[in-house]
Amino acid sequence: MLTLLAACASDPPPVALTEVPIEHAPIVLVTLDTTRADRIGAYGHVAARTPNLDALAARGTRFSSAWAPVPLTIPSHSTILTGLLPPRHGVRDNGDHRLSEDATTLAEHFAADGRRTAASVGAFVTQSHWGFGQGFDVYDESLHVASESLSWHVERPANEVVAAADTSADFLWVHLFDAHAPYLPDPAFEDPYDAEIHRLDVALGVLLSTLPADATVVVVGDHGEGFGEGGEDAHGLLLEDGVLRVPLIVAGPGVPVGVVERPVSLADISPTILRLAGLPAPGDLDGRDLFDESERIGVYSETRYGHHHFGWTPLERLTADSSKLVRGARLEGDETLLAELDRLSSLPPAFAAAEATLDPSTVEQLQALGYLSEGGSGAHSGIDPRDGIEQIAKLAALRELPPAEALEAMAVLLAENPGWRDLRMRRGLSLARLGRTDEALAELTDAYRDGPGSTTAVTIGELWLRQGDPAEALGWFLEALTIDPRSATARAGQAQCLAMSGQLDAAQAVIDEGLAETPDHADLLLAGAVLALATHQGEEDWIEAVEDIVARRPTQARLNHVLGSLHLRAGHPEEAEQAFEQELRMQPGNVAARLDLVRLYQEQGRLVDVVKALRPLVALQPEEPVWQAMTASAYLEMGRAGLAKEHLLACAGHPACPE
Ligand SMILES: [Zn+2]
Repeated sequence: MLTLLAACASDPPPVALTEVPIEHAPIVLVTLDTTRADRIGAYGHVAARTPNLDALAARGTRFSSAWAPVPLTIPSHSTILTGLLPPRHGVRDNGDHRLSEDATTLAEHFAADGRRTAASVGAFVTQSHWGFGQGFDVYDESLHVASESLSWHVERPANEVVAAADTSADFLWVHLFDAHAPYLPDPAFEDPYDAEIHRLDVALGVLLSTLPADATVVVVGDHGEGFGEGGEDAHGLLLEDGVLRVPLIVAGPGVPVGVVERPVSLADISPTILRLAGLPAPGDLDGRDLFDESERIGVYSETRYGHHHFGWTPLERLTADSSKLVRGARLEGDETLLAELDRLSSLPPAFAAAEATLDPSTVEQLQALGYLSEGGSGAHSGIDPRDGIEQIAKLAALRELPPAEALEAMAVLLAENPGWRDLRMRRGLSLARLGRTDEALAELTDAYRDGPGSTTAVTIGELWLRQGDPAEALGWFLEALTIDPRSATARAGQAQCLAMSGQLDAAQAVIDEGLAETPDHADLLLAGAVLALATHQGEEDWIEAVEDIVARRPTQARLNHVLGSLHLRAGHPEEAEQAFEQELRMQPGNVAARLDLVRLYQEQGRLVDVVKALRPLVALQPEEPVWQAMTASAYLEMGRAGLAKEHLLACAGHPACPE
């Protein structure tokens, strides 16, 4: 431990730009998610076991004052990969936008020069869905997801991401997500966060050992993590040092050995890599070469998380050599930095931002995790997130309440904070779950008017479908598609509406068009399978696709029912039975699936099974004559008139009731 401290104290002196020659060797960019600079050995954290990062720092340049542009993964990576600040690339929160096709990414610069590019990423937030695949020949983003709807917090461990990385590429990007919460404890470490950082370091060591000797390596954290600074745990809402200051190390042939102490931005990575690769950098990047020592007033960071989710003010920060300024509802810090903060925060967009839609199952999951993402300015309360953070505890407390009480508490909070879009969405979804669809639609429609977003529009469309109103639903799916023309979920909804109104050819065309663009999208595949069932065409062809979706989303309602129906049509009664039973294990209240299973038993003359399968329906709705009639018929067929009697009495007078 003492040797680490000593190494820090005797760091080589600062380095200058002129010492760095242009190289054509491979370049490897490693982004470490949620990694604070002050938890790395080379940055002075004695409890860390990060020998690989420390050795890399010792043979390259360590930037001791590197600042993330946004304390959130998708916006920060959008900056790292483009050299543009968030006001320019337009991705300002997780989940609301994807990086536009109009952006030119690092990988696209390499590809345009005929060089090979590859990426291996470790989480949902860096999948190609967010626009990060642009320019990559190989984009390995496979996640071992038990369920797609859980994917926001499912990660691929660092060792697997590294194993999948194509180390022969001219430009390789590797994203390691391990340090993001939840932290996996390790008995060898007192602090589970340190254990995760150690795991990252081990994987990094493996990666470094497999790289060509002349590779240049850039390792950077995408943002840090809050450990109570300003009242924040995790990251996103505030702009304290802990969530913004990240490790940044550049090492390779010709890269000087030393420490750079002036503040640098993650926007600087892109122009630096382009120069190291001997590629021309566009003139309009916000970042500049990391080794450029000319004067700079400060580096820019922002977060709109509180603004998007709670209707609070945006936060912006300028970090200078020895001071900083943070602006929300009030200014705090060195006000001589105000003009530069103004300039950077009001940079005009470089291109139109591209909206992104989340499917409703992901929305529910985000909600369960305590955050939910959709852009939209929303009502503005003027509250500074630094003050509002105390209110967040009230949101967490809602989770402890029974559903009906939680709804009431949400209504009270909403009356006090009309700008809390997340809460309005959450209340709408809770109402929908309780079957109070009319109220849910009213709440969600209010939320949409307050700040239109494609995810909200899709959710409203799904609810109208549930209400059996495809015409109203169609309007909302089309609304979502005007905001996010690529949304597969909205297309699947559109197809479903068309099919329900008898426009089967039009529905097929929408599905075909969608699948041409996103061939594996579960919602579109499911819509295609349902349409095949409706048109009695090619059911067999859909079985494999639906089995694949079931594997990806094992808990999603209706999927096994659709799969069973396909099997039944294709003449596979055993598989059909298994799928129906699976559906009913997870959704005992799925009446349609239960009736299909009953019909299957009836066809096979399995009368005892018919009675057994009907029993939950009879128990649930004893006043429903059809269930009573079906049960009575089965008993009569078995010759058990005594047992049939009470059911005959219960259905007397109904046309389905046996004589
Ligand atoms: Zn991140």
